[in-house]
Amino acid sequence: MEKDYDIAIIGAGAAGMSAALSAAEVSKEMGHDVRIVVLERSEEADWGGNSRWTTSNFRMIDESHLYPTFEEDIMKDSEGKASREYVHRLAHEAIDTITWIRSRGVVLEARPGNWSISGFKMGPVGGGLEIITKLRTSTEKFGVSLLFNMTAYKLIQDDNGNLIGLLVRDRSGVSRRITTHATILAGGGFEGNCEMLTKYIGRDALALRTDVPATKFHMGECINMAFDIGAAPSGEFGNYHGDVVDSRSNTYRASIRAYVYGILVNNNGERFIDEGMDEISGSFEFMSRAIFKQPGHIAYVIFDQKTRSIESLGKDVKTSLPPYEARDLTELAEKIGISPAGLIRTVDEFNKTVEPGEFNPTKLDGKHTSGILPPKSNWAVEIDSPPYFCYPVEGTVQFTWGGVACDSHARVLAANGKPISGLYAAGETVGFYYHHFTPGTAVLMALTYGRIAGFEAVQSITEH
Ligand SMILES: Cc1cc2nc3c(=O)[nH]c(=O)nc-3n(C[C@H](O)[C@H](O)[C@H](O)COP(=O)(O)OP(=O)(O)OC[C@H]3O[C@@H](n4cnc5c(N)ncnc54)[C@H](O)[C@@H]3O)c2cc1C
Repeated sequence: MEKDYDIAIIGAGAAGMSAALSAAEVSKEMGHDVRIVVLERSEEADWGGNSRWTTSNFRMIDESHLYPTFEEDIMKDSEGKASREYVHRLAHEAIDTITWIRSRGVVLEARPGNWSISGFKMGPVGGGLEIITKLRTSTEKFGVSLLFNMTAYKLIQDDNGNLIGLLVRDRSGVSRRITTHATILAGGGFEGNCEMLTKYIGRDALALRTDVPATKFHMGECINMAFDIGAAPSGEFGNYHGDVVDSRSNTYRASIRAYVYGILVNNNGERFIDEGMDEISGSFEFMSRAIFKQPGHIAYVIFDQKTRSIESLGKDVKTSLPPYEARDLTELAEKIGISPAGLIRTVDEFNKTVEPGEFNPTKLDGKHTSGILPPKSNWAVEIDSPPYFCYPVEGTVQFTWGGVACDSHARVLAANGKPISGLYAAGETVGFYYHHFTPGTAVLMALTYGRIAGFEAVQSITEH
C-alpha cells in the first residue's frame, strides 16, 4: 500500500540530520526514489536540539584519527557495561563519518588544551550548529522534507504488529497520522520531562538546572513510543551528564570548572568530594552530580589569592559575574550565607593535610592530601592567602543516558534481543552511557549511527 513517506525521521539534531542525508544519498545511489521526512517539534528558529548548542568536541587527535584508546576509554568509563559491539562499530566508522561531513562543508579545528590538560581534541568550526546546518543544506538538494512544529508521540502497528507509521501533533494540537515503511527515532533523551526525570533520577530531579534552551524539547517520547511497542531499555536510566555552573547566572553555560584548584564546600561548610580526582574533563560530571546531592543542591568553590595567579584560570571560569571576595573566612562565609565555624574548621583541617610537592596546574600533579576524607588527589594547596574568593555553584543536566536498546545496525531491539522490523534509532534516544560519559563521543555517535540508520532504513525498504 502507498505510504505517505518511505522513511520518517523524528528529530532534527545531529542524529536525525545525519540519518536524513545518508538515506537520501544511499537511495539516490541505488536509483530508488525514497521519500523522506524529518519531523521536528520545535519552531524553525530553535531547531537542532542539543546539537545546536554543543561546541561539539570530538575525541580525535587529528582529522583522520580518533584517540588511540577511544574504544577502551568508553568501555572503561562505562565500567564495562556499554555494548562492545556498538562501541566497536562506532570506533570503526567515526572517521569515515567525519570525512563525510567534511565533504559536505564542515571544517574541523584542533582545540588544544582547553578540554584535556593532558592532550587535545578536534571540533567543528562553528560547533554543532554548523554540522546540522551543513547537513540540512545537503538534504535540501535531495528534496528531503523538514517539517517543524511536528511532535511525534505514538508509533502505529497494524493488526499483525507490523509498524506502519506514527502519530504526530502539530502546533495547534491537531493530530495527524503519517504512514511510513521505516521510522528512525532521533528525538534525544528525556532531560526536559519532569515525570521521567523524577521516575528515573529521583524525586528531587525537578530541581536540576538545565544547561541549554533545547532541554525543553527533550520529552523522551521517542523512548516511550518504542517501549510501548516492546523495545528493550539500555543505558543507565538513573544517571546523566551535567556541568558545574554559577548558581547566580541567568545565562546558559556559565560554567565554573576551576574547582580543581580550590575546595568545594556545601551549606554546612563541609567538603564532600575529591575536587582533584581527575583532570577537568574527567571530573566535572562527577562534581555536577555530587553538588546536586548537597543540601539545597548548591555548593561553593573556595579559592585564595594564590589561585588568581594561575594563568589558565579564565578558561575554566566562564561566568561573567564576579566572585564573592572577603578578607577572612568568617566574612566570606557570612557573605555567602553558610556556617562560618564550619568553613573555618574545614579549611583548617584541609590545610593540615596538604602534602608538600610541586603544584602544576597544567597536568595531574599528584600534589595531594593525606589523612582526610574525602581526599584531594591533585592540586592540593593550602587555602591561607587572603583575600579569599568564592563562586556559588550548581550542577546541571545536559543529557540523560537511558534509552532504547539498539544493535550495531541501528535497529531498535525488542526485549528478546531481536530487531523490531522497520524501527531504527540514533543519538541520545539510544541508551548507551553508564557511570561516566566519555567526553567527545556523543556527537560522533549521533552522526555515525544516524548515518548507519539512514543506510539501513533504505536497505530494508528496497529489499521488499
Ligand atoms: C551543553 C552541551 C554540551 C555538549 N558538549 C558535547 C561535546 O563537546 N561533545 C560531544 O560529543 N557531545 C556533547 N554534548 C552532547 C551532544 O550535544 C548530544 O549528545 C548530541 O548533540 C545529541 O544529538 P541528537 O541528534 O541525539 O539529539 P538532539 O541534537 O538533541 O536532537 C533531538 C531533536 O529531536 C527533537 N525532538 C525531540 N522529541 C521530538 C518529538 N517527539 N517529535 C519531534 N521532534 C522531537 C528535538 O527538538 C531536537 O531537535 C553536549 C550536550 C550539551 C547539552
